[in-house]
Amino acid sequence: DVVDVDKWIKGTCRFCGTGCGVYVGVKNGRVAAIRGNPQAATNFGFLCVKGFKGYMSMYHPDRLKYPLVRGADDKFKRVSWDEALNLVAKKFMELQQKHGKDAVAYYGSGQCMTEESYTFNKLWKGGFGSNMVDGNPRLCMASAVGGYVTTFGTDEPAGSYADIEKARTFFLVGSNLSECHPIIFRRVTRQKLSNPDNIKVIVCEPRLTSTARIADIWLPADPGTDLAVFHCMAREIVKNNWVDKWYIENLCRFTTGTQVVDFAAYTQFLEQFTPEAVEKLTRCPAANIVEAARLFATQGPTMSLWTMGLNQRTRGVWANNLVHNLHLITGNICKEGADSFSLTGQPNACGGVRETGSLSHLLPGTRPVANPAVREQVEKAWKIPAGKIDPKPGFHTMEMFAKLGAENDASKPLKGMFITTTNPAQSLPNCHKYHKGMKESFLVVADIFPTRTTQLADVILPAAFIYEKGGVYGCSERRSQLTSKCTDPPGEAKPDLWIAAQLAKRMGLEKLIPWNGDDPAANYKMAWDDYRECVKMTEHSLYGITYDRLLKMEEGLQWPCPDEKSPGTARRYVRGKDPIMDMPEIVKVPPQALIYFYADQKHEGRANVFLRPYKGPEEPPDKEYPFFLTTGRVIEQWHSGTMTMRVPEIARSQPNAYVEIHPSDAKQYGINNGDLVKMISRRGFNILPARVVKSSLPGILFVPWFDQDWDRMINRVTIDAFDDGSKQPEFKICAVRIERF
Ligand code: SF4
Repeated sequence: DVVDVDKWIKGTCRFCGTGCGVYVGVKNGRVAAIRGNPQAATNFGFLCVKGFKGYMSMYHPDRLKYPLVRGADDKFKRVSWDEALNLVAKKFMELQQKHGKDAVAYYGSGQCMTEESYTFNKLWKGGFGSNMVDGNPRLCMASAVGGYVTTFGTDEPAGSYADIEKARTFFLVGSNLSECHPIIFRRVTRQKLSNPDNIKVIVCEPRLTSTARIADIWLPADPGTDLAVFHCMAREIVKNNWVDKWYIENLCRFTTGTQVVDFAAYTQFLEQFTPEAVEKLTRCPAANIVEAARLFATQGPTMSLWTMGLNQRTRGVWANNLVHNLHLITGNICKEGADSFSLTGQPNACGGVRETGSLSHLLPGTRPVANPAVREQVEKAWKIPAGKIDPKPGFHTMEMFAKLGAENDASKPLKGMFITTTNPAQSLPNCHKYHKGMKESFLVVADIFPTRTTQLADVILPAAFIYEKGGVYGCSERRSQLTSKCTDPPGEAKPDLWIAAQLAKRMGLEKLIPWNGDDPAANYKMAWDDYRECVKMTEHSLYGITYDRLLKMEEGLQWPCPDEKSPGTARRYVRGKDPIMDMPEIVKVPPQALIYFYADQKHEGRANVFLRPYKGPEEPPDKEYPFFLTTGRVIEQWHSGTMTMRVPEIARSQPNAYVEIHPSDAKQYGINNGDLVKMISRRGFNILPARVVKSSLPGILFVPWFDQDWDRMINRVTIDAFDDGSKQPEFKICAVRIERF
């Protein structure tokens, strides 16, 4: 090794949903280096800057090392763990006794380990009988979940990253893959470069990002208008008879959402979306849409990849549905290289939150809490009395924060909240609107650094970083990977699972949430085994994914994985590939069926092709606020920047947020590169340096969201309207005006 370390320990990167495999180098008990794992199926040894350098934040002097409690003078003072936990338990019990079991909420994260999310979910739903459980994946991929569930009956993609190397056409939509999932982008570009003339890339995205720059066809539709583009592509596909008739006859059900219709009615519905009409509506050139439709349908296999541009929308579920439509009518799913694939933002939003059911309407196995049979099975698995789990879903994220407030405020039913591994005071849209409720309620925050959210807390609990505790992450392709503990946390910082167990003990629930001995690894394994048992007989079974197997395997395992002999599942819904197809105790699949969407609620093995009407964004530009604002990430920074801004190399390379503005707009307002721009929405304003670039179309501004400086915190400007179905907010689109500052 060129790097001088004592040992290398296998794990995963904690900075995005790609799930890159790493080896963590440990020297004298400290993490000293990270290298990519060449045998990892996700990244083949490659890492981006966050993977290489992000761990360095572990040793930043700002690390939270001791529990802190806000005193009567409004200042934080150091206390012992006993004092802090006793206070939290006492206050939570008082609030529950006085205001009911739903008075205290848990707000989790797609960055917690799976064992942690599962356990907090169990404590709240099984211990307190309260579904007041949600988390930041609601802000990240709830619309993708809604899209998969409404189209296919169940969550998460059918295929795998391995389809990238088999695809001939890519449809990259609502995703700046090159910055947000750089290792996936590397795989796509390698595939493109392997045969540049015959591998085609379509990018649908309102900015000429570094992703769009590799496109053969760029579809620059205005933010929030792409539903019309997708329907227009479908119209071209049907009109030119580029459909897959077998798929349409055997695997598709055409529906308005309330009424099943036939293919002729779908064809008739699409007629309104002519290329010319759609160009007028979206500013996307008609010829580009027509060519994109041809490539999508005739140059297959075709793989779509998307992230927040599709999800963070008031029509996010519909946008997901319409991309699935294109795959279904062209037969581009359940085949090598063909998939409709949502990329997750956070490292463990899929594994930790979606799959463990750690959202207000779900139970483990991504099953609805409203289903009595599911509640009964989970109650048995958790050994709690029948009827303990509340059938009524709790509040989703936006509702939670809107209803969080002071004890004496009758309009706010939530009086307390436990937040871990996330920073909602910065990451919520229209964030400052929710600060008052956070400040006035009893707020407990577990994290590794001070954040905008800890500033509002009553109790701050110092948490361990991933390499200081270990545990399982599940990435976008249904793959679980185990990280082993590499080093000890600083000061008195503790693993979140320990915190959950200590809280449970003080609330009389130590049997439900045990912690035995001093070894975190043994306790994380115990929680993982509990979870495996709980979802054993579900479509999402990962019963065969044991710690022992994960320790031995370089690449982890993909669910469904119903037993320890199962090699995992790279492709769902296909006979011979997906073991669930042959498990009648879980689903009924006709013996002759080769492809069968077994989660279809109507038990016909079909997926829904939706006739969704066109609807644009919630707040389109107008005379007073004439610009679209869209937000996103940059390659160097992770989310609210609390970790990556504490890595000097990263902080130097991308030190602050900025606003990208097209030269023609800049000229009109007399703005030059580097000038300060005041950006104003109906909710708030920012003051940002200008970057005058051609990457956004005229009329569209872009701001990254990592900056926590009050003047540049873009979520003071964004809109908190959300999707009716998924309850995911429209971070991506709002109307603003600008002034030279
Ligand atoms: Fe980590 Fe994502 Fe970068 Fe991979 S692509 S190294 S998982 S941040």
